[in-house]
Amino acid sequence: MFDPKSLKAPEFIDHQEVLDSLAYADENKNNRAVLDEIIAKARQHKGLSHREASVLLATDDPEINAQIFELAREIKKAYYGNRIVLFAPLYLSNYCINGCVYCPYHLKNKHIPRKKLTQEEIEREVIALQDMGHKRLAIESGEDPKNNPIEYILESIKTIYNIKHKNGAIRRVNVNIAATTVENYKKLKDAGIGTYILFQETYHRESYEKLHPTGPKHDYCYHTEAMDRAMDGGIDDVGLGVLFGLELYRYEFCALLMHAEHLEAVHGVGPHTISFPRVKRADDIDPNAFDNGISDDTFIKIIACARVAVPYTGMIISTRESKEVRERALEVGISQISGASRTSVGGYVDEEPEDESSAQFDVSDKRTLDQVISWLMQLGYVPSFCTACYREGRTGDRFMALCKSNQILNCCHPNALMTLKEYLQDYASPITKLIGDKLIQNELGTIPNQKIRSFVEKNLVKIENGERDFRI
Ligand code: SF4
Ligand code: SF4
Repeated sequence: MFDPKSLKAPEFIDHQEVLDSLAYADENKNNRAVLDEIIAKARQHKGLSHREASVLLATDDPEINAQIFELAREIKKAYYGNRIVLFAPLYLSNYCINGCVYCPYHLKNKHIPRKKLTQEEIEREVIALQDMGHKRLAIESGEDPKNNPIEYILESIKTIYNIKHKNGAIRRVNVNIAATTVENYKKLKDAGIGTYILFQETYHRESYEKLHPTGPKHDYCYHTEAMDRAMDGGIDDVGLGVLFGLELYRYEFCALLMHAEHLEAVHGVGPHTISFPRVKRADDIDPNAFDNGISDDTFIKIIACARVAVPYTGMIISTRESKEVRERALEVGISQISGASRTSVGGYVDEEPEDESSAQFDVSDKRTLDQVISWLMQLGYVPSFCTACYREGRTGDRFMALCKSNQILNCCHPNALMTLKEYLQDYASPITKLIGDKLIQNELGTIPNQKIRSFVEKNLVKIENGERDFRI
Protein backbone atom coordinates (compact mmCIF):
# COMPACT_ATOMS: atom_id res chain seq x y z
CA MET A 1 0.00 0.00 0.00
CA PHE A 2 1.52 3.34 -1.08
CA ASP A 3 2.33 5.57 1.86
CA PRO A 4 4.90 8.37 1.45
CA LYS A 5 5.10 8.71 5.25
CA SER A 6 5.91 5.06 5.85
CA LEU A 7 9.46 4.16 6.84
CA LYS A 8 9.27 0.90 4.91
CA ALA A 9 10.76 1.01 1.43
CA PRO A 10 8.11 -1.18 -0.25
CA GLU A 11 5.46 1.28 1.00
CA PHE A 12 7.07 4.63 0.11
CA ILE A 13 8.35 3.17 -3.17
CA ASP A 14 5.23 1.10 -3.71
CA HIS A 15 5.69 -0.94 -6.91
CA GLN A 16 1.97 -0.84 -7.74
CA GLU A 17 1.86 2.94 -7.31
CA VAL A 18 4.72 3.25 -9.82
CA LEU A 19 2.89 0.97 -12.27
CA ASP A 20 -0.40 2.86 -11.77
CA SER A 21 1.37 6.18 -12.28
CA LEU A 22 2.97 4.95 -15.50
CA ALA A 23 -0.42 3.65 -16.71
CA TYR A 24 -1.95 7.05 -15.85
CA ALA A 25 0.86 8.72 -17.79
CA ASP A 26 0.21 6.49 -20.81
CA GLU A 27 -3.51 7.20 -20.69
CA ASN A 28 -3.00 10.95 -20.50
CA LYS A 29 0.16 11.62 -22.46
CA ASN A 30 -1.89 12.99 -25.36
CA ASN A 31 -4.75 14.40 -23.30
CA ARG A 32 -4.40 18.10 -23.93
CA ALA A 33 -6.62 19.15 -21.02
CA VAL A 34 -4.58 17.14 -18.51
CA LEU A 35 -1.27 18.27 -20.03
CA ASP A 36 -2.31 21.94 -19.96
CA GLU A 37 -3.35 21.60 -16.32
CA ILE A 38 0.02 20.10 -15.37
CA ILE A 39 1.94 22.75 -17.29
CA ALA A 40 -0.13 25.48 -15.59
CA LYS A 41 0.75 23.99 -12.20
CA ALA A 42 4.43 23.76 -13.16
CA ARG A 43 4.40 27.44 -14.11
CA GLN A 44 3.91 28.26 -10.43
CA HIS A 45 7.44 26.92 -9.80
CA LYS A 46 6.30 24.86 -6.82
CA GLY A 47 7.03 21.45 -8.32
CA LEU A 48 4.94 18.51 -9.48
CA SER A 49 3.91 15.15 -8.07
CA HIS A 50 5.47 11.94 -9.39
CA ARG A 51 2.29 11.25 -11.38
CA GLU A 52 2.12 14.66 -12.98
CA ALA A 53 5.81 14.67 -13.86
CA SER A 54 5.44 11.15 -15.30
CA VAL A 55 2.78 12.40 -17.70
CA LEU A 56 5.13 15.14 -18.91
CA LEU A 57 7.93 12.64 -19.36
CA ALA A 58 5.66 10.32 -21.38
CA THR A 59 4.22 12.90 -23.76
CA ASP A 60 5.50 13.19 -27.29
CA ASP A 61 3.35 16.23 -28.08
CA PRO A 62 5.92 18.60 -29.67
CA GLU A 63 4.19 21.72 -28.42
CA ILE A 64 4.07 20.45 -24.83
CA ASN A 65 7.66 19.26 -25.06
CA ALA A 66 8.72 22.74 -26.15
CA GLN A 67 6.86 24.17 -23.14
CA ILE A 68 8.56 21.69 -20.78
CA PHE A 69 12.02 22.74 -21.99
CA GLU A 70 11.13 26.42 -21.80
CA LEU A 71 9.81 25.98 -18.27
CA ALA A 72 12.88 24.02 -17.21
CA ARG A 73 15.10 26.89 -18.42
CA GLU A 74 12.89 29.44 -16.69
CA ILE A 75 12.85 27.55 -13.37
CA LYS A 76 16.58 27.01 -13.48
CA LYS A 77 17.13 30.71 -13.98
CA ALA A 78 14.73 31.63 -11.18
CA TYR A 79 16.30 29.30 -8.60
CA TYR A 80 19.93 29.12 -9.68
CA GLY A 81 20.56 32.14 -11.88
CA ASN A 82 23.54 31.51 -14.13
CA ARG A 83 25.95 30.01 -11.62
CA ILE A 84 27.29 26.45 -11.84
CA VAL A 85 28.97 24.83 -8.85
CA LEU A 86 32.11 22.75 -9.45
CA PHE A 87 33.32 19.67 -7.60
CA ALA A 88 35.59 16.66 -8.07
CA PRO A 89 35.29 13.04 -6.95
CA LEU A 90 38.10 11.52 -4.89
CA TYR A 91 38.31 7.73 -4.91
CA LEU A 92 39.73 6.44 -1.64
CA SER A 93 39.50 2.69 -2.12
CA ASN A 94 38.11 0.22 -4.64
CA TYR A 95 38.03 -2.76 -2.29
CA CYS A 96 34.45 -3.96 -2.30
CA ILE A 97 32.58 -7.02 -1.11
CA ASN A 98 29.46 -6.41 -3.18
CA GLY A 99 28.54 -8.06 -6.43
CA CYS A 100 27.02 -5.16 -8.41
CA VAL A 101 26.98 -6.42 -11.99
CA TYR A 102 27.39 -2.95 -13.57
CA CYS A 103 30.48 -1.91 -11.58
CA PRO A 104 34.04 -3.17 -12.15
CA TYR A 105 34.77 -3.03 -8.41
CA HIS A 106 32.50 -6.04 -7.79
CA LEU A 107 34.10 -8.74 -5.67
CA LYS A 108 34.45 -11.31 -8.45
CA ASN A 109 36.58 -9.03 -10.64
CA LYS A 110 39.95 -10.55 -9.88
CA HIS A 111 42.09 -8.71 -12.39
CA ILE A 112 41.31 -5.06 -11.62
CA PRO A 113 44.08 -3.62 -9.42
CA ARG A 114 42.77 -3.12 -5.88
CA LYS A 115 43.98 0.01 -4.19
CA LYS A 116 43.37 1.84 -0.96
CA LEU A 117 44.96 5.22 -0.36
CA THR A 118 47.03 5.75 2.75
CA GLN A 119 46.62 9.08 4.55
CA GLU A 120 49.86 10.27 2.92
CA GLU A 121 48.52 9.31 -0.50
CA ILE A 122 45.26 11.13 0.25
CA GLU A 123 47.29 14.19 1.10
CA ARG A 124 49.06 14.03 -2.25
CA GLU A 125 45.77 13.58 -4.13
CA VAL A 126 44.18 16.47 -2.28
CA ILE A 127 47.13 18.76 -2.97
CA ALA A 128 46.82 17.88 -6.67
CA LEU A 129 43.11 18.77 -6.49
CA GLN A 130 43.79 21.98 -4.59
CA ASP A 131 46.40 22.92 -7.18
CA MET A 132 43.72 22.68 -9.87
CA GLY A 133 41.51 25.00 -7.83
CA HIS A 134 38.96 22.59 -6.37
CA LYS A 135 37.29 23.46 -3.07
CA ARG A 136 34.56 20.81 -2.93
CA LEU A 137 35.08 17.05 -3.08
CA ALA A 138 32.90 13.98 -3.14
CA ILE A 139 34.75 11.06 -1.58
CA GLU A 140 33.97 7.60 -2.93
CA SER A 141 34.77 4.20 -1.55
CA GLY A 142 33.72 0.62 -2.09
CA GLU A 143 31.99 -1.27 0.72
CA ASP A 144 34.42 -3.39 2.66
CA PRO A 145 34.24 -3.37 6.47
CA LYS A 146 37.75 -4.82 6.73
CA ASN A 147 39.57 -2.57 4.29
CA ASN A 148 37.38 0.54 4.40
CA PRO A 149 35.81 0.66 7.89
CA ILE A 150 34.05 3.83 8.99
CA GLU A 151 37.16 4.78 11.00
CA TYR A 152 39.16 4.90 7.76
CA ILE A 153 36.56 7.15 6.13
CA LEU A 154 36.48 9.46 9.17
CA GLU A 155 40.26 9.66 9.34
CA SER A 156 40.37 10.45 5.62
CA ILE A 157 37.84 13.28 6.01
CA LYS A 158 39.92 14.74 8.82
CA THR A 159 43.06 14.52 6.70
CA ILE A 160 41.35 16.24 3.77
CA TYR A 161 40.00 19.15 5.81
CA ASN A 162 43.37 19.70 7.46
CA ILE A 163 45.45 20.05 4.31
CA LYS A 164 46.38 23.66 3.72
CA HIS A 165 48.66 24.02 0.74
CA LYS A 166 49.44 27.47 -0.69
CA ASN A 167 46.04 29.21 -0.91
CA GLY A 168 44.21 25.92 -1.36
CA ALA A 169 41.66 24.35 0.95
CA ILE A 170 38.95 21.76 0.61
CA ARG A 171 36.01 23.42 2.27
CA ARG A 172 33.30 20.84 1.74
CA VAL A 173 33.61 17.07 1.69
CA ASN A 174 30.55 15.23 0.42
CA VAL A 175 30.50 11.51 1.06
CA ASN A 176 29.39 8.71 -1.21
CA ILE A 177 29.76 5.47 0.73
CA ALA A 178 27.58 2.40 1.20
CA ALA A 179 24.37 2.43 3.21
CA THR A 180 25.23 2.21 6.89
CA THR A 181 23.87 2.50 10.43
CA VAL A 182 22.42 5.55 12.22
CA GLU A 183 25.43 5.42 14.52
CA ASN A 184 27.85 5.69 11.59
CA TYR A 185 25.83 8.49 10.02
CA LYS A 186 26.14 10.36 13.32
CA LYS A 187 29.91 9.95 13.10
CA LEU A 188 29.92 11.31 9.54
CA LYS A 189 27.82 14.25 10.68
CA ASP A 190 30.28 14.95 13.50
CA ALA A 191 33.14 14.79 11.00
CA GLY A 192 31.59 17.80 9.25
CA ILE A 193 30.51 16.28 5.96
CA GLY A 194 28.45 18.23 3.45
CA THR A 195 25.98 16.02 1.61
CA TYR A 196 25.62 12.28 2.07
CA ILE A 197 25.16 10.81 -1.39
CA LEU A 198 23.89 7.33 -2.12
CA PHE A 199 22.68 6.23 -5.51
CA GLN A 200 19.74 3.90 -5.47
CA GLU A 201 20.96 2.41 -8.79
CA THR A 202 17.43 1.09 -9.49
CA TYR A 203 14.20 1.39 -7.55
CA HIS A 204 12.75 -1.72 -9.20
CA ARG A 205 13.09 -4.29 -6.43
CA GLU A 206 13.23 -7.41 -8.55
CA SER A 207 15.86 -5.92 -10.86
CA TYR A 208 17.73 -4.49 -7.89
CA GLU A 209 18.07 -7.93 -6.34
CA LYS A 210 19.31 -9.43 -9.63
CA LEU A 211 21.77 -6.59 -10.24
CA HIS A 212 23.10 -6.95 -6.69
CA PRO A 213 23.27 -10.73 -6.34
CA THR A 214 25.72 -10.84 -3.45
CA GLY A 215 27.02 -8.77 -0.55
CA PRO A 216 25.26 -6.46 1.91
CA LYS A 217 24.01 -4.24 -0.91
CA HIS A 218 21.71 -7.08 -1.99
CA ASP A 219 19.30 -5.96 0.76
CA TYR A 220 16.93 -3.63 -1.14
CA CYS A 221 15.16 -2.29 1.94
CA TYR A 222 18.33 -1.56 3.90
CA HIS A 223 19.69 0.34 0.91
CA THR A 224 16.48 2.21 0.06
CA GLU A 225 15.86 3.23 3.68
CA ALA A 226 19.44 4.54 4.10
CA MET A 227 18.50 8.19 3.68
CA ASP A 228 16.03 7.93 6.57
CA ARG A 229 18.77 6.55 8.79
CA ALA A 230 21.15 9.27 7.58
CA MET A 231 18.61 11.92 8.52
CA ASP A 232 17.94 10.21 11.85
CA GLY A 233 21.70 10.41 12.39
CA GLY A 234 21.55 14.20 11.97
CA ILE A 235 22.66 14.53 8.35
CA ASP A 236 20.48 17.27 6.89
CA ASP A 237 21.54 17.14 3.27
CA VAL A 238 21.20 13.94 1.29
CA GLY A 239 21.73 13.30 -2.41
CA LEU A 240 19.71 10.82 -4.48
CA GLY A 241 20.35 9.30 -7.89
CA VAL A 242 19.61 6.31 -10.09
CA LEU A 243 21.91 4.73 -12.64
CA PHE A 244 19.98 5.21 -15.86
CA GLY A 245 20.24 2.24 -18.18
CA LEU A 246 19.67 -0.49 -15.60
CA GLU A 247 15.85 -0.42 -15.65
CA LEU A 248 13.11 1.31 -17.62
CA TYR A 249 13.78 5.01 -17.28
CA ARG A 250 10.15 5.97 -16.74
CA TYR A 251 9.95 3.59 -13.78
CA GLU A 252 13.12 5.05 -12.27
CA PHE A 253 12.05 8.64 -12.79
CA CYS A 254 8.68 8.10 -11.13
CA ALA A 255 10.17 6.20 -8.17
CA LEU A 256 12.94 8.77 -7.73
CA LEU A 257 10.32 11.48 -7.31
CA MET A 258 8.40 9.25 -4.88
CA HIS A 259 11.60 8.97 -2.84
CA ALA A 260 11.91 12.77 -2.82
CA GLU A 261 8.26 13.08 -1.73
CA HIS A 262 8.89 10.54 1.03
CA LEU A 263 11.83 12.51 2.44
CA GLU A 264 9.78 15.67 2.39
CA ALA A 265 6.80 13.93 4.05
CA VAL A 266 8.84 12.31 6.83
CA HIS A 267 11.71 14.72 7.45
CA GLY A 268 10.21 17.98 6.16
CA VAL A 269 13.02 18.39 3.65
CA GLY A 270 13.50 16.86 0.23
CA PRO A 271 16.80 15.75 -1.31
CA HIS A 272 19.54 18.38 -1.41
CA THR A 273 20.73 17.04 -4.75
CA ILE A 274 19.82 14.52 -7.42
CA SER A 275 22.57 13.07 -9.63
CA PHE A 276 22.02 11.89 -13.17
CA PRO A 277 24.49 9.12 -14.10
CA ARG A 278 24.11 6.71 -17.02
CA VAL A 279 25.74 3.28 -17.27
CA LYS A 280 29.17 3.63 -18.89
CA ARG A 281 31.89 1.37 -20.16
CA ALA A 282 34.49 0.20 -17.61
CA ASP A 283 36.85 -2.68 -16.96
CA ASP A 284 34.77 -5.88 -17.55
CA ILE A 285 31.56 -3.81 -17.97
CA ASP A 286 29.93 -3.35 -21.37
CA PRO A 287 27.04 -0.86 -21.23
CA ASN A 288 25.43 -2.67 -24.19
CA ALA A 289 24.90 -5.65 -21.91
CA PHE A 290 22.12 -3.62 -20.27
CA ASP A 291 18.89 -3.44 -22.26
CA ASN A 292 17.60 -0.16 -20.94
CA GLY A 293 20.13 2.32 -22.26
CA ILE A 294 18.65 5.71 -23.13
CA SER A 295 19.41 8.12 -25.94
CA ASP A 296 20.85 11.57 -25.32
CA ASP A 297 17.51 13.15 -26.21
CA THR A 298 15.65 11.04 -23.66
CA PHE A 299 18.31 11.78 -21.06
CA ILE A 300 17.94 15.52 -21.60
CA LYS A 301 14.17 15.26 -21.37
CA ILE A 302 14.45 13.39 -18.05
CA ILE A 303 16.62 16.21 -16.72
CA ALA A 304 14.17 18.88 -17.92
CA CYS A 305 11.19 17.07 -16.36
CA ALA A 306 13.08 16.66 -13.08
CA ARG A 307 13.93 20.36 -13.06
CA VAL A 308 10.25 21.18 -13.40
CA ALA A 309 9.21 18.60 -10.78
CA VAL A 310 11.73 19.54 -8.03
CA PRO A 311 12.72 23.18 -8.63
CA TYR A 312 14.58 23.54 -5.34
CA THR A 313 16.85 20.51 -5.67
CA GLY A 314 20.43 20.82 -6.91
CA MET A 315 21.00 18.64 -9.97
CA ILE A 316 24.37 17.07 -10.77
CA ILE A 317 26.00 15.68 -13.87
CA SER A 318 29.49 14.19 -13.97
CA THR A 319 32.27 13.74 -16.49
CA ARG A 320 30.67 10.42 -17.42
CA GLU A 321 28.93 12.58 -19.99
CA SER A 322 30.53 14.33 -22.94
CA LYS A 323 31.00 18.07 -23.29
CA GLU A 324 28.08 18.19 -25.76
CA VAL A 325 25.63 16.37 -23.48
CA ARG A 326 26.75 18.42 -20.48
CA GLU A 327 26.13 21.60 -22.40
CA ARG A 328 22.55 20.58 -23.21
CA ALA A 329 21.97 19.35 -19.65
CA LEU A 330 23.19 22.62 -18.13
CA GLU A 331 20.68 24.54 -20.15
CA VAL A 332 17.64 22.61 -18.90
CA GLY A 333 18.42 22.09 -15.26
CA ILE A 334 21.84 20.95 -14.09
CA SER A 335 23.30 23.21 -11.40
CA GLN A 336 26.45 21.32 -10.38
CA ILE A 337 29.13 19.55 -12.43
CA SER A 338 32.40 17.78 -11.82
CA GLY A 339 35.50 18.88 -13.67
CA ALA A 340 38.83 17.24 -14.54
CA SER A 341 37.76 14.09 -12.68
CA ARG A 342 39.79 10.95 -12.24
CA THR A 343 37.66 7.93 -11.45
CA SER A 344 40.52 5.69 -10.35
CA VAL A 345 42.09 5.33 -6.92
CA GLY A 346 45.10 7.66 -6.80
CA GLY A 347 44.38 8.97 -10.29
CA TYR A 348 45.12 12.64 -9.63
CA VAL A 349 48.77 11.94 -8.89
CA ASP A 350 49.55 8.81 -10.91
CA GLU A 351 48.55 8.35 -14.53
CA GLU A 352 47.70 4.63 -14.84
CA PRO A 353 48.45 2.60 -17.99
CA GLU A 354 45.11 1.73 -19.64
CA ASP A 355 45.43 -2.04 -19.10
CA GLU A 356 46.07 -1.51 -15.39
CA SER A 357 43.30 0.98 -14.82
CA SER A 358 41.53 0.98 -11.46
CA ALA A 359 38.85 3.35 -12.77
CA GLN A 360 35.19 2.83 -11.86
CA PHE A 361 34.05 4.05 -15.28
CA ASP A 362 35.41 5.75 -18.38
CA VAL A 363 35.37 9.52 -18.34
CA SER A 364 33.89 11.16 -21.45
CA ASP A 365 34.77 14.76 -20.66
CA LYS A 366 38.54 14.73 -20.22
CA ARG A 367 39.16 18.48 -20.23
CA THR A 368 41.23 20.24 -17.58
CA LEU A 369 39.48 22.30 -14.92
CA ASP A 370 40.78 25.47 -16.55
CA GLN A 371 39.22 24.43 -19.85
CA VAL A 372 35.92 23.62 -18.14
CA ILE A 373 35.88 26.99 -16.34
CA SER A 374 36.66 28.86 -19.52
CA TRP A 375 33.98 26.91 -21.44
CA LEU A 376 31.35 27.65 -18.77
CA MET A 377 32.12 31.36 -18.85
CA GLN A 378 31.97 31.47 -22.62
CA LEU A 379 28.51 29.89 -22.40
CA GLY A 380 27.46 32.73 -20.09
CA TYR A 381 27.64 30.81 -16.79
CA VAL A 382 29.39 31.90 -13.62
CA PRO A 383 31.52 28.99 -12.34
CA SER A 384 31.28 28.81 -8.57
CA PHE A 385 33.48 27.20 -5.93
CA CYS A 386 31.11 28.25 -3.19
CA THR A 387 30.75 26.06 -0.10
CA ALA A 388 29.14 28.68 2.12
CA CYS A 389 25.83 27.14 3.16
CA TYR A 390 26.79 24.29 5.41
CA ARG A 391 29.64 26.37 6.87
CA GLU A 392 27.09 29.03 7.77
CA GLY A 393 24.66 26.45 9.16
CA ARG A 394 22.30 26.75 6.21
CA THR A 395 21.41 23.07 5.90
CA GLY A 396 18.29 20.93 5.79
CA ASP A 397 15.00 22.77 6.26
CA ARG A 398 16.76 26.11 6.83
CA PHE A 399 18.41 25.81 3.45
CA MET A 400 15.21 24.60 1.76
CA ALA A 401 13.18 27.51 3.13
CA LEU A 402 15.69 29.97 1.63
CA CYS A 403 15.79 28.01 -1.59
CA LYS A 404 12.02 27.71 -1.99
CA SER A 405 11.60 31.45 -1.49
CA ASN A 406 14.38 32.16 -4.01
CA GLN A 407 16.29 34.11 -1.34
CA ILE A 408 19.27 31.81 -1.63
CA LEU A 409 20.16 33.58 -4.88
CA ASN A 410 21.20 36.59 -2.80
CA CYS A 411 23.95 34.38 -1.37
CA CYS A 412 24.80 32.17 -4.35
CA HIS A 413 25.57 34.87 -6.87
CA PRO A 414 27.89 37.02 -4.70
CA ASN A 415 29.60 33.89 -3.35
CA ALA A 416 30.08 32.61 -6.88
CA LEU A 417 31.80 35.85 -7.89
CA MET A 418 34.10 35.88 -4.85
CA THR A 419 35.11 32.22 -5.19
CA LEU A 420 35.59 32.59 -8.93
CA LYS A 421 37.89 35.51 -8.23
CA GLU A 422 39.95 33.30 -5.91
CA TYR A 423 40.20 30.72 -8.67
CA LEU A 424 41.28 33.32 -11.22
CA GLN A 425 43.95 34.72 -8.91
CA ASP A 426 45.41 31.39 -7.88
CA TYR A 427 44.92 28.84 -10.65
CA ALA A 428 43.61 30.20 -13.94
CA SER A 429 45.54 30.45 -17.20
CA PRO A 430 46.06 34.04 -18.41
CA ILE A 431 43.29 33.79 -21.01
CA THR A 432 40.80 32.28 -18.53
CA LYS A 433 41.71 35.02 -16.04
CA LEU A 434 41.04 37.67 -18.66
CA ILE A 435 37.62 36.22 -19.52
CA GLY A 436 36.80 35.75 -15.84
CA ASP A 437 37.75 39.22 -14.65
CA LYS A 438 35.61 40.74 -17.38
CA LEU A 439 32.71 38.46 -16.46
CA ILE A 440 32.95 39.42 -12.78
CA GLN A 441 32.85 43.13 -13.69
CA ASN A 442 29.71 42.59 -15.77
CA GLU A 443 28.07 40.42 -13.12
CA LEU A 444 28.73 42.93 -10.34
CA GLY A 445 26.34 45.28 -12.06
CA THR A 446 23.55 42.73 -11.80
CA ILE A 447 23.63 42.50 -7.98
CA PRO A 448 20.47 44.40 -7.08
CA ASN A 449 21.28 45.16 -3.45
CA GLN A 450 23.76 48.06 -3.14
CA LYS A 451 25.05 46.90 0.26
CA ILE A 452 25.81 43.40 -1.03
CA ARG A 453 27.40 44.81 -4.17
CA SER A 454 29.84 46.98 -2.24
CA PHE A 455 30.56 44.09 0.17
CA VAL A 456 31.55 41.98 -2.84
CA GLU A 457 33.54 44.80 -4.45
CA LYS A 458 35.56 45.33 -1.28
CA ASN A 459 36.27 41.63 -0.96
CA LEU A 460 37.33 41.32 -4.57
CA VAL A 461 40.04 43.90 -3.85
CA LYS A 462 41.04 42.00 -0.70
CA ILE A 463 41.28 38.78 -2.75
CA GLU A 464 43.55 40.57 -5.23
CA ASN A 465 45.67 41.54 -2.23
CA GLY A 466 46.01 37.95 -1.06
CA GLU A 467 43.17 37.44 1.43
CA ARG A 468 40.88 34.40 0.95
CA ASP A 469 37.63 32.76 1.96
CA PHE A 470 34.93 35.43 1.95
CA ARG A 471 31.31 34.38 1.98
CA ILE A 472 27.77 35.39 2.69
S1 SF4 B 1 28.79 0.06 -7.14
FE1 SF4 B 1 29.72 0.44 -5.16
S2 SF4 B 1 29.04 -1.27 -3.92
FE2 SF4 B 1 28.76 -1.90 -6.04
S3 SF4 B 1 30.64 -2.98 -6.62
FE3 SF4 B 1 30.86 -0.81 -7.20
S4 SF4 B 1 31.91 0.11 -5.45
FE4 SF4 B 1 31.05 -1.83 -4.75
S1 SF4 C 1 25.33 29.94 -1.21
FE1 SF4 C 1 24.77 27.86 -0.60
S2 SF4 C 1 23.37 27.12 -2.21
FE2 SF4 C 1 24.44 28.90 -2.99
S3 SF4 C 1 26.20 28.04 -4.08
FE3 SF4 C 1 26.89 28.56 -2.02
S4 SF4 C 1 26.67 26.64 -0.88
FE4 SF4 C 1 25.43 26.44 -2.75
